[in-house]
Amino acid sequence: MHAFDDCSYCGGRVTMRRVQKPCWWGNRLIALVDKVPTGVCEQCGERYYEAQVLKNIEDLLKHKKLFKTQIRVPLAQYAKA
Ligand SMILES: [Zn+2]
Repeated sequence: MHAFDDCSYCGGRVTMRRVQKPCWWGNRLIALVDKVPTGVCEQCGERYYEAQVLKNIEDLLKHKKLFKTQIRVPLAQYAKA
């Protein structure tokens, strides 16, 4: 398994986890991809993705292999524009 370098922001240890990744097209959320192998900094939570993983996700989206389950989430606005 790929070992990540220490976090480039805080120097914390980055460990591999399987997390849910939101995928954006511009500022539109087009999909959530579950169980994405991701390097997560144990200190600040910064996430790191391998190039190959991002490529795989792109392929998934392109071939629409994800959309058997649709979820709806409420949209919240942090502050008035
Ligand atoms: Zn960090």
